[in-house]
Amino acid sequence: MVVPYKHEPFTDFSIEENRRALESAIKQVEAELGKTYPLIIGGERIMTDDKIEVVNPADKKEVIGYVAKANQDLAEKAHRIADETFSWWRKTKASFRADILFRAAAIVRRRKHEFTAHLVKEGGKPWKEADADTAEAIDFMEFYARQMLDIDKGVEINSRPIENNRFHYIPLGVGVVISPWNFLFAIMCGTTTAAMVSGNTVLLKPASSTPIIAYKMMEVLEEAGLPAGVINYIPGSGKEVGDYLVDHPRTRFISFTGSREVGTRIFERAAKVHEGQKWLKRTIIEMGGKDTIIVDEDSDLELAADSITYSAFGFSGQKCSACSRVVAHEAVYDELLERVVQKTKNEVSHGNPADNRSYMGPVIDQGAYDKILSYIEIGKKEGKLMAGGKGDDSKGWFIEPTVFADLDPESTIMQEEIFGPVLGFMKASSFDEALEIANNTEYGLTGAVITNNRQHIEKAREDFHVGNLYFNRGCTAAIVGYHPFGGFNMSGTDSKAGGPDYLYHHMQGKTTSEML
Ligand code: NAD
Repeated sequence: MVVPYKHEPFTDFSIEENRRALESAIKQVEAELGKTYPLIIGGERIMTDDKIEVVNPADKKEVIGYVAKANQDLAEKAHRIADETFSWWRKTKASFRADILFRAAAIVRRRKHEFTAHLVKEGGKPWKEADADTAEAIDFMEFYARQMLDIDKGVEINSRPIENNRFHYIPLGVGVVISPWNFLFAIMCGTTTAAMVSGNTVLLKPASSTPIIAYKMMEVLEEAGLPAGVINYIPGSGKEVGDYLVDHPRTRFISFTGSREVGTRIFERAAKVHEGQKWLKRTIIEMGGKDTIIVDEDSDLELAADSITYSAFGFSGQKCSACSRVVAHEAVYDELLERVVQKTKNEVSHGNPADNRSYMGPVIDQGAYDKILSYIEIGKKEGKLMAGGKGDDSKGWFIEPTVFADLDPESTIMQEEIFGPVLGFMKASSFDEALEIANNTEYGLTGAVITNNRQHIEKAREDFHVGNLYFNRGCTAAIVGYHPFGGFNMSGTDSKAGGPDYLYHHMQGKTTSEML
């Protein structure tokens, strides 16, 4: 019997022993910097001349490592192997596949600080955020392993007296998993292992700025007993390798998490039926957000200010769930704004993520840095700059936590996903108007309402159209198995990572009926 699922607890870094453990893990990671990592195709390590250089976003000169880069020939080889492997992998017992995840989760748990230290370096994550990323990766493996065991029990369907009917789920085939850099461990691990444990074979293309953690996960899965060819590790250019794999006629499904731009491109390309293709491709696509916290007239303003500040600036706002918009009732707007500005100026430090006091850390790369600063320039024209507004890329890509006030709901800052530490404030004259403004983007990922008014909670439950809606707390920090995660509209294809039906997206139902 498998023990019931419980999420992995977070590490308390106010305890000296925990601090020391992570400090020594960071030293260990630093001793290994600059290594070269090969592709893994059919279990074979393949080195390429062309490599991806991975640097620490907090210290651009620190090279974390060099990673081999797949091209179309290698992607084709990986595809062929995944296809061949599927012919027998699909018949393995669910418990065989789940056991690999239980073991892999235990390995990561035992070496937790080592992974967390790596995320601090490769992703530029502050300690607390890196620890949560590792915990979530463990959670995904534990949760999906159990879900697969449940699905394997089958579903009751009726049989007439002259027949014996059965219904069960079978895997789809070769899946392409394309992951983002922001939850470099958790999302990459969750999407890959969900596909694998449900009986598919996988081509894993991690984000180019953070491919090393995916190599480390591959090592863990191999140690846990994953056979060669089931998951193939092929980092490479999104355009070159990504498009090739998405278009491939033998690709059965694509599981993508990333931007709206790339997600919609994949969705369109996947819709085209290529020569030799025998199915319509399934897509599981999770994209961006423009997430709002509504603060009601009757509400706890200190709770609101804390929730907003953490949701906006935790990991520098680089979460799809991050709060980038506040809609406050006019009766509390000025006081709330003042509290958030003070907290932003006084409490949100930024600096080296390897320092455990650091709350924000850098943004991921030069492209993100330039893009966020250009949005800040737009914000200065559209609203009133209340805090932050500057960047410094002399050592790493650091941007101050930035707050704009008095924005128009239709302004660029209020409509486009900036994916950085930029927060905008808007005023509403009633709760209904606040809801209307909150719903006025093309996204629908997360949202929160801070209120003491029970009617307003119920109204928002019905009318605030987001996949994850929270009351009297921030809008980030979903936990696997507790807050199934995924958005509506242009935030994705409505699946819920860490939710009760997630694995079904990777499977198809088959009915058998035998005449007696
Ligand atoms: P991105 O779209 O730039 O990249 C995501 C992945 O797609 C990367 O691996 C990239 O190499 C790959 N890619 C790029 N072009 C491709 C192509 N033509 N074909 C196939 N793959 C291609 O996104 P990002 O910058 O890595 O991540 C940030 C974005 O992800 C934000 O928009 C954020 O909101 C979103 N996100 C969403 C969720 C969610 O659950 N909804 C979670 C995390 C991040």
